[in-house]
Amino acid sequence: MTATRTPGVPVVEDGALVSTSPATGEEIGRFPVASPDDVTAAVARARDATTWWAELGHTGRRERLLRFRSVLARRLDELAELMHRETGKPVAEAIVEAGAAIDHVAWAAHHARRVLGRRRMRGTLLMAEHVGYLEYLPLGVIGIIGPWNYPVFTPMGSIGYALAAGNAVVFKPSEYTPAVGQWLVDRFAEVVPERPVLQIVHGTGEVGAALSRSGVDKVAFTGSTATGKKVMAACAERLTPVLLECGGKDAMIVDADADLDAAVSACVWGGMTNAGQTCVGIERVYVADAVYEPFVTRLVDRARDLTAGADDGADIGPITMPSQIEVIRRHIDDAIASGGRAVLGGPDAVQPPYVRPTILVDVPEDSTAVREETFGPTLTVTRVRDADDGVARANASRYGLGGAVFSRSRGMELARRLRSGMTAVNATLSFAGMPSLPFGGVGDSGFGRIHGEDGLREFTRAKSISRRRMRSPLPSMSFDRTPRAVTMIGKAIKLVHGRSR
Ligand code: NDP
Repeated sequence: MTATRTPGVPVVEDGALVSTSPATGEEIGRFPVASPDDVTAAVARARDATTWWAELGHTGRRERLLRFRSVLARRLDELAELMHRETGKPVAEAIVEAGAAIDHVAWAAHHARRVLGRRRMRGTLLMAEHVGYLEYLPLGVIGIIGPWNYPVFTPMGSIGYALAAGNAVVFKPSEYTPAVGQWLVDRFAEVVPERPVLQIVHGTGEVGAALSRSGVDKVAFTGSTATGKKVMAACAERLTPVLLECGGKDAMIVDADADLDAAVSACVWGGMTNAGQTCVGIERVYVADAVYEPFVTRLVDRARDLTAGADDGADIGPITMPSQIEVIRRHIDDAIASGGRAVLGGPDAVQPPYVRPTILVDVPEDSTAVREETFGPTLTVTRVRDADDGVARANASRYGLGGAVFSRSRGMELARRLRSGMTAVNATLSFAGMPSLPFGGVGDSGFGRIHGEDGLREFTRAKSISRRRMRSPLPSMSFDRTPRAVTMIGKAIKLVHGRSR
């Protein structure tokens, strides 16, 4: 039976998930929907594969992962074209996204041994006869539930690091981007044909729910806060640890001494890249009173030039998940109904499947446009007394993912005060492209970290070993200790720790 299709809305036909372009409705591909038994079987196969993958060691895995990144790099144009067709995002944006993901895979491959490998740890005076060893061992099988907005960069931020740490992965891509997910998994199978170290299971949210309950050793989820809570509740049944990368409502602070041209350029890109469908996209801008007027004038001038469409030269593609258009429309309407003004775009900018750039000013802080994740090419711009006032308002959010500060004299200070996992100074979103920096949020934006050293350790368990290497001069952890040894230990503790400083 063939269901009625709306461009971009996936349908299930004859047991297959059918993916279509949100811009044209063109069919992109069909993928078998996994049953709960299929998910269980994939996890069992992954468990078998973990032993082999773990035994390859850091050197063997590094070599495979570097081959994988080479394949991705050589076939970058083909991947970007597929991303463009399935999500609608402009090819240029797809190349930037996939390029960053490739950089992350290379970083994880190069650094896994240094970060996770066994090291000797020093003891203290009281345990001088023991030596310690610390290493970070793989957890086993990681379930990764990915989103549609960055179907390469976001899941690869978990997949690349989990694999480099020695785990096998079962990946559930968003039902909106199964073709991109399948392409990635197929490329990995070309460089690692021996065992199913990276598998994919397709379907709707139910498949993600089955994966959460499947007994994997950790679930890494990226998506909405509401679904993140469901994933965490499902994982709680088996005490499966979770990493949640949820939404955001990221703020940008523009200080009175900011380079305004640079701030405007970064703000337009940070807010409207990928049609605003970016978890760390700028959604709120707080501008110091002294520069508010020129900032807004230049921002509107710059954003007005952006073009929306499906053609190669367009800056803004269609909204990937059609139902999101109603959320964007509701936020714009609420901003205006509560006293705000659209100085660019507005309700008429919503022309499905596109939303044209929209800049809203004078929007009250309790409007949904300021409080909830919009996920569209819209910005609220608010006049504040100074940058400190901006920081206070930015922090008055249940989210805390990323953010940005533009300031010549106080960038680092203001950045540290923003309650979020990451902040870019005199740029937007730049932290996401730096593999050495951990990525993740606080509050409703989730917890746990991908990327960087923390991102590698996130998919491991610390394994500590202490080895006694000589006879104990003052045995303390034994019933064989003598009263004299206890006296000596007491004296040693007072000597070492009894000082006031
Ligand atoms: P969801 O959070 O529902 O989906 C994210 C992923 O979780 C998808 O793979 C989805 O599968 C899967 N999923 C859905 N239900 C469950 C479940 N019960 N258990 C396990 N996995 C599940 O996001 P939406 O795609 O519906 O987008 C809604 C909003 O979320 C957006 O408007 C945006 O605000 C936010 N969002 C934030 C993202 C971010 O990067 N932080 C990314 C995507 C969305 P399926 O797609 O098949 O339903």
